[in-house]
Amino acid sequence: MTLRLAIVGRPNVGKSTLFNRLAGKRLAIVDDRPGVTRDRRFGTGRIGDLDLELIDTAGFEDVTDESLEARMRAQTEAAIRECDVALFVIDSRVGITQLDEIFADVLRRHDRPVILVANKAEGRRGDDGVNEAFRLGLGEPIAISAEHGEGLADLYAALREYA
Ligand code: GDP
Ligand code: MG
Repeated sequence: MTLRLAIVGRPNVGKSTLFNRLAGKRLAIVDDRPGVTRDRRFGTGRIGDLDLELIDTAGFEDVTDESLEARMRAQTEAAIRECDVALFVIDSRVGITQLDEIFADVLRRHDRPVILVANKAEGRRGDDGVNEAFRLGLGEPIAISAEHGEGLADLYAALREYA
């Protein structure tokens, strides 16, 4: 059973860190496709007994003519269409920003299942942000630390529902 996961959210919440955490060094396959898909990174990985196909959304360093928001929207929508489950990542230390709300709207307009991931939750500094994330109406946030590898058992349990 392979689950296709799109990792979406605004810049700097830790999407790529989560991608790398789930992909593992051994299994990472990076596919730099040209054109429309250049903002997305593809890989494979594993969590528990689940095989994963991962899509990281990223890379606005080379913003050109399109507005940043339009481009984020477009690549997020493309990733959502390609996945079974979207992992919507927020930064629990910052809380919910206006940009997070925009991403939440995009996700609500699609019918893909969404798992809300409150990252950077190591220690207790993320508690307020995790609580704030509830207000997005996208279900119970899963508190994780992609950097420190915490909360992955909870993430696995949430993913298992869709396998
Ligand atoms: P992206 O833009 O969403 O892909 O975010 P990145 O994965 O590039 O991470 C942005 C910043 O957040 C980097 O400085 C990471 O080291 C940091 N970061 C990522 N995950 C965590 C985490 O779990 N805890 C903390 N404290 N920092 C993190
Ligand atoms: Mg990134």
